Amino acid sequence: MTARTVLQQADIARALTRISHEILESNRGTDDLVILGIPTRGVVLARRIADTIQRIEPAAVGSPADIVGALDVTMYRDDLSRHPTRTPQPTSLPGPIDGKTVVLVDDVLFSGRTIRAALDAVSDIGRPRAVRLAVLVDRGHRELPIRADFVGKNLPSAASERIFVRLDEVDGTEAVTIEEP
Ligand code: 5GP
Ligand code: MG
Repeated sequence: MTARTVLQQADIARALTRISHEILESNRGTDDLVILGIPTRGVVLARRIADTIQRIEPAAVGSPADIVGALDVTMYRDDLSRHPTRTPQPTSLPGPIDGKTVVLVDDVLFSGRTIRAALDAVSDIGRPRAVRLAVLVDRGHRELPIRADFVGKNLPSAASERIFVRLDEVDGTEAVTIEEP
């Protein structure tokens, strides 16, 4: 097994700062913006993005908690029967999402099936004006017509490789590595 570090702590921080600016640019500010992380690490990333957006636009966002939440997609997965032990995580919203621009946040984008499930979960909650997608790593291998609007790093990978995203809040360490079996 060989492991290669593709993003170090500072690289992750820079990517998230850039994504935060890109979100503000495309949304033309913070109006009607809702950032929803997909558990587990997507929630951590969403919180960091919300913190950064609040720091960039303190007059428009009182508290990061006003714009960030978590979206559990477990019950919407098309492979639920294959992973019956997956435990749902709580969904928490900063408020209604009707008419809002929802930015979904996840750590890794692979087949696209998690995001398809997330779109189902979103439409059960409300009717946003638009849904966007931000991911820290896009590793390719899509099986559905889904793409990310905001990408930390494109990381073309072999299907057999695995990408490890480690974040301080969850893992006590911070890095993105790629590991070959
Ligand atoms: P997808 O549903 O697009 O196939 O996979 C995306 C979801 O599975 C994400 O929530 C992500 O956390 C996880 N995932 C898929 N592939 C990888 C990978 O190589 N590394 C990590 N860390 N997560 C992955
Ligand atoms: Mg995940």
